[in-house]
Amino acid sequence: MFGVLRFRPGRFWPLPVLMVCLMLLPAVGKTTASNTVVDALAEQSDSNTIYLTFDDGPSANTMALLDVLQEYGIRATFFVTGQYEGNTADLLRCVAEGGHSVGLHSYNHMYDEIYSYSEAFFADLEKVDDLVRQSTGQTAVLYRFPGGSLNSHCPLWLREELRQQLKERGYIYHDWNVVSGDQGSRVLSAEELFSNVLKDAGRVREGPLVILFHDTNHCATTPEAVKMVIEHFLEEGYRFLPITPETPPVRF
Ligand SMILES: [Zn+2]
Repeated sequence: MFGVLRFRPGRFWPLPVLMVCLMLLPAVGKTTASNTVVDALAEQSDSNTIYLTFDDGPSANTMALLDVLQEYGIRATFFVTGQYEGNTADLLRCVAEGGHSVGLHSYNHMYDEIYSYSEAFFADLEKVDDLVRQSTGQTAVLYRFPGGSLNSHCPLWLREELRQQLKERGYIYHDWNVVSGDQGSRVLSAEELFSNVLKDAGRVREGPLVILFHDTNHCATTPEAVKMVIEHFLEEGYRFLPITPETPPVRF
């Protein structure tokens, strides 16, 4: 299911052109040209990759999301919080046991507090870090800023300091390049979310698709939309991967 790579017109046209050029090259040029082919293939496989990401969980919808992912044998990435007033530890354990990546987002997700000064930011981060470690036995490395790495809540003077300190503490932050729109004030239908994803995905010129979904009580239609996204893009020849510490981050 994962191994199917298909050429998509418009994104991979350089590869056939490159292959023809290679056939015309003299023997002395082969080493460099072969490396170029390897690079082109790596890029091709990257452009066929989707990272499904779920922010703000766990929630009352986490198990429904896990069921959909399990149905298709797909692993995703959850950037988690401590906001849910339920069986958070059990749900985090289920996420980790499902083979999904567990990254940190924020413990309380309160912009005014975490983006007030760096000590407040890291006090909050340490809380969610502890929560993940105690629930899953894993030490999280992946991180996503609430609101993304460029957001209007975090003052400019603080932004660079937080990035630097995150790096020093061994965290790797990731943004996204496709939004589903599942966290607006109105609950959109699964079809509307799917359509948003398709629209945004069409605008990504190169590299993998990193799709932002949310895992909150509000997002009741998200599991169905995720199912639609998976079915559509599998049909298109994409593969779905969890973000790992080795994944080159997509950032704003
Ligand atoms: Zn968030």
